[in-house]
Amino acid sequence: MNVVIIGNGVTGVSAAIRIRQLQPDWKITMISGESEYHYSRPALMYIFMGHMGYKNTKPYENSFWPKNDIHLIRDWVTEIDTGSKRLLMQKLDPIYYDKLLIATGSKSNKFGWPGQDLKGVQSLYDLMDLRELYENTQEVKNAVIVGGGLIGIELAEMLHSRGLHVTFLVREKSYWDNVLPAEESSMINNLIKQENMELLLERELKEIIDDGNGRVGGVITNKGEKIDCGLVGLTAGVSPNLDLIKESNIPGGRGILVDGGLRTQIEDIYSAGDCAEIVTEGEGRNLIQQVWYTGKMQGKVVGETIAGMDSVYDPGIWYNSAKFLNLEYQTYGQVNNAQGLLSIPGEKNLYWEHQNHLHSLRLVHNGNEILGVNVMGLRYSHKICESWVRDKRTPDYVLDNLFQANFDPEFFKRYESNIVGTLKEQII
Ligand SMILES: Cc1cc2nc3c(=O)[nH]c(=O)nc-3n(C[C@H](O)[C@H](O)[C@H](O)COP(=O)(O)OP(=O)(O)OC[C@H]3O[C@@H](n4cnc5c(N)ncnc54)[C@H](O)[C@@H]3O)c2cc1C
Repeated sequence: MNVVIIGNGVTGVSAAIRIRQLQPDWKITMISGESEYHYSRPALMYIFMGHMGYKNTKPYENSFWPKNDIHLIRDWVTEIDTGSKRLLMQKLDPIYYDKLLIATGSKSNKFGWPGQDLKGVQSLYDLMDLRELYENTQEVKNAVIVGGGLIGIELAEMLHSRGLHVTFLVREKSYWDNVLPAEESSMINNLIKQENMELLLERELKEIIDDGNGRVGGVITNKGEKIDCGLVGLTAGVSPNLDLIKESNIPGGRGILVDGGLRTQIEDIYSAGDCAEIVTEGEGRNLIQQVWYTGKMQGKVVGETIAGMDSVYDPGIWYNSAKFLNLEYQTYGQVNNAQGLLSIPGEKNLYWEHQNHLHSLRLVHNGNEILGVNVMGLRYSHKICESWVRDKRTPDYVLDNLFQANFDPEFFKRYESNIVGTLKEQII
């Protein structure tokens, strides 16, 4: 059997490893246009900031691949010919497959803004963007970042570390308040301002202005402001990368449509990770998950499906983690956002925030069971926080056992007695 995987991100790699475990004799080929070897995409910022060399972002030694008989190809696939089971390549001869996994990740959103193709305007997704950023930051003093999500704040930190002055244009009323509750969102607003970055809320990009030489000279906002800058970072979210299915008969919606086993509607073709849209028959909205750990889990499941097992992807309890400048954030289960879009009937919130606005804890519950947890600026064990939601613990149980979750180093200040005192008073 000849399995070909397009994409060597966490999804493609997790699938390849699982298939090799289950099918020691199958031929496995992994193709990527971006890099020969798999690396950690979330570490892109640390390469730029000089905290890590590129080679340290590779989770596996180069020797891992030949040892496991996984063949790596560096090239771009330009077309999938499902009739003859063949991939057309940018440089190489066509590659044939018996089974194909499409794990092509996401693409940065661009909304057709005037001037979006000028020199000095870019997104942050891959190694090509990183290279462009090295060039685009030469002799530039001011940058505008459009979009207030997780990648936007990473880009801001990267540029700030090089001494650029950063202005954020954020469409929402408060930073990332389409995901975060009002209090946590407000903590990020404060942090951005403390770092001397400019945060312009309820602002949209109208136009990017040419400096007369084909390079960005500034931007115009929806409120008519003109902001001079030599770099524009477009970080208004990402969407599943559908480039390869556009000209094929593989059905797509917002992502590449797959069933619970991560099969597309075309025989022997599978898709998983950021690019996939899992059809959830009669269970509400289809599932598109665009984070590292879900790519890993989906990669494992699709590897099992391809290898012949009857596996079904179970998204489990939602988890995400990120860093806003120096503020670490983890979220588990269901936490309502400031816009009320995720609210749960009967939900109650217990919330503690340190007066320095650098640490907070939120427990969402329905009177009996914990439904969600947000942790900011505290290091709490993933396993323990997840178990509170999974095991439907009561708020009292969580507060009585809160100290067990903290794994901050010994020299860090601990706030549990203060948190428990405050939150116990809020339980009525
Ligand atoms: C800057 C940044 C920071 C992030 N930080 C975090 C974080 O802190 N935590 C978190 O959970 N998630 C984070 N994410 C999201 C996370 O990185 C993605 O969810 C994850 O990488 C998705 O994995 P994937 O394998 O599905 O796709 P990708 O990692 O995007 O891999 C796609 C692969 O497909 C290849 N490819 C695409 N098209 C073709 C083609 N036509 N021919 C050949 N190869 C092709 C690419 O070369 C690449 O190898 C971050 C993302 C970015 C961009």
